[in-house]
Amino acid sequence: MPSFALDLTLYTTQAVVALVLAALLLHYHRVFGLVSLLQWSRSFALLAVHLVTAWYGIYWHLDNETAPMAVQLLVAAVSQVAVYGHLGFAALGARTSVHGLRKDDPVPGRVLYGALALGLVCALAWSQTGDAHMQRLFMRVGLRYLLGGTCFIAIAVALWRQPNREGLGVRVAAVAMGLFGLQMLHVWAVYLWELKHASSLPWSAFIGIFSLVTEMFAGFSLLIWLLEDERNRANRTDSALKRLRDFDAITGFPNRRRLLSDLTTLLRQTNQRTALLLLRLDQADTLSGSYGVVVLETVMAETANRLEQHARPGWPRPARLSDTRFVQTLPRVTSNAELTAIANDLLATLRIPFYVAGQELSLSASIGIALAATDSGNAEGLIAAAEAAGQRAHDEGGNRFQYFSSEMNTLALTKLGLLGELRQAFTRGELVLYYQPLVAAGFGNRLSGVEALARWQHPQRGLLLPEMFIEELEQLGMIEEFDRHVLAIACREAQDWQQRYGSEISVSVNISTRSFQNQHFAELVRSLLKECGLAPSRLELEVVESGAMDDPARAIQSLSRLRALGVRVMLDDFGTGYSSLSYLRELPVDGLKIDRSFVDDVIERPRDAAIVAATITLAHSLGLEVVVEGIETEPQLAWFSAQKVDRLQGFLFSPPLDRDALRQRLAGRDATLPRAPDSGPVV
Ligand code: C2E
Ligand code: CA
Ligand code: CA
Repeated sequence: MPSFALDLTLYTTQAVVALVLAALLLHYHRVFGLVSLLQWSRSFALLAVHLVTAWYGIYWHLDNETAPMAVQLLVAAVSQVAVYGHLGFAALGARTSVHGLRKDDPVPGRVLYGALALGLVCALAWSQTGDAHMQRLFMRVGLRYLLGGTCFIAIAVALWRQPNREGLGVRVAAVAMGLFGLQMLHVWAVYLWELKHASSLPWSAFIGIFSLVTEMFAGFSLLIWLLEDERNRANRTDSALKRLRDFDAITGFPNRRRLLSDLTTLLRQTNQRTALLLLRLDQADTLSGSYGVVVLETVMAETANRLEQHARPGWPRPARLSDTRFVQTLPRVTSNAELTAIANDLLATLRIPFYVAGQELSLSASIGIALAATDSGNAEGLIAAAEAAGQRAHDEGGNRFQYFSSEMNTLALTKLGLLGELRQAFTRGELVLYYQPLVAAGFGNRLSGVEALARWQHPQRGLLLPEMFIEELEQLGMIEEFDRHVLAIACREAQDWQQRYGSEISVSVNISTRSFQNQHFAELVRSLLKECGLAPSRLELEVVESGAMDDPARAIQSLSRLRALGVRVMLDDFGTGYSSLSYLRELPVDGLKIDRSFVDDVIERPRDAAIVAATITLAHSLGLEVVVEGIETEPQLAWFSAQKVDRLQGFLFSPPLDRDALRQRLAGRDATLPRAPDSGPVV
């Protein structure tokens, strides 16, 4: 039989293609976590099983049925159950893609039991029909192709009509499924014709080829669809993240960071004539104290409302600077009289009582005014000036406005007092490192490393946190020297842990943008590592996202050099910077640290939680490690564990520890171990 070899080849190829598709879809299911992909994968795997067993059936048939009946029956049962399972899973895959997955949905169970029953009945019927060749063929081949064809055409229609489709991918998949279905009906018709006329059609030798091609098209169309979908998802998550980052969730107003960037642009355009009104409710503290945060938030939302209603054409939207402070930017102020009128107007609006939760609240506001022309030419400075003026208005009894004046600028002076001492802090050994544990997520939440955090042990003021001096170091041009100093201490200490306690934990060091963008930085790291004999894999560098994005080409070069050393690099404060997820593909980093500010959000705001979850999934799909910092409560831990983040850090496990406390812990002498849910000690 000349077509015998061809048939065998085609069957085998179809089976192999089906297996490859099943494996690919399974892989993408693992990456993206989509249940529909798992269902499609199973569908193709079962198709492969069917093709192989069906081939055995044909082979015996040609061989005059020499195999024992029991074996034939078994093979027939497997073959039939597999093919209806294949259809069942395909239908479920399409259903999940279109409607999503619901809990306690009875349909998948019914479909699969139905497929199982149908397969068994067909196999039994097949064995009972004795020599009736026609009926046997019909049970084995005819019914399967008729049902299969119908099923795939139904899938095609469902995909085509899917309401929330986006892009071309789903259309391609619909067409491919339709063709796959039509080909099955075609096979079915050819079989019927051939049985009836006992001769073959001219093209029947090629039928296997058609089947192979349509099967491949159907399978790969799913992958095309998936890739397109994934890109759309990344873009959606990107813009959602941007919104989250730039706008206040309650009022929808721009937040502080957005205000800063908008204001910077505005100052460049109109410079001299911009004024800032900073508005704060005088009773904010007592409100949250005696009525709770919910009432405070309601009042804030209403305040935002009133501000917006008072905005004049040409003004930017008011911004929410913090929980209780709003800023109205005035782009073109012509006179002080105009400003005074606006401020008085706003004060009057906010004196109108608020009605919240059935109560009447009489409130008042304080307004601080700063002018670009006289007070500060940059956004930060202007906001600070307006804030200082607002504070003064509030301190003087509230319900008033106050222009900024330079004698309010006393804060900078105290800072200056410290600046001189900062230079000496290095040489006096007052800069010390604390170490905060990072644990590997999963069973036991085991200690995997520590983040080195700088502190200034000031002789009079006590322990000063980095927020007090990092910026100042930058201004003094000492930040690179400082980073070197910290790196050297951290590397030496990490090497020491190994020597004393045999501990191989890694140490993470924060690196400022300036250092990181220095061409010679990688070389410096290399020589420091060599000097203290620390394995590069035990050093991790944390760079801030915005820093890496300032000059992407340079960042990529710098990152590549560092990674070539074998040092790991993480993007710190992820989500607060300027980068986008799409851009992340190009940055050669090992992972990212999701910023602390998202940690509260995920528990309190389900919508934000979905964005963070999508970010984690996308990062994983790019092969990046995900670390979360600032875990303070069990629910936060539970949520992030469920998202399968790789490492965790936060007060729930441990605050930053001084050198000796960490050493004690590593030596196993400290019994107060960080907590982890239903598990043993962390260290
Ligand atoms: P970061 O890199 O985001 O560091 C994490 C900060 O979060 C640390 O504050 C840490 O103490 C704090 N933290 C950790 N877990 C929790 C938690 O569960 N809840 C809360 N509320 N906070 C938590 P720290 O030590 O004040 O450091 C602040 C920032 O200073 C760091 O932010 C980092 O950007 C910078 N920094 C610290 N050490 C260095 C250093 O050696 N070099 C450079 N260039 N920057 C440093
Ligand atoms: Ca950090
Ligand atoms: Ca951080």
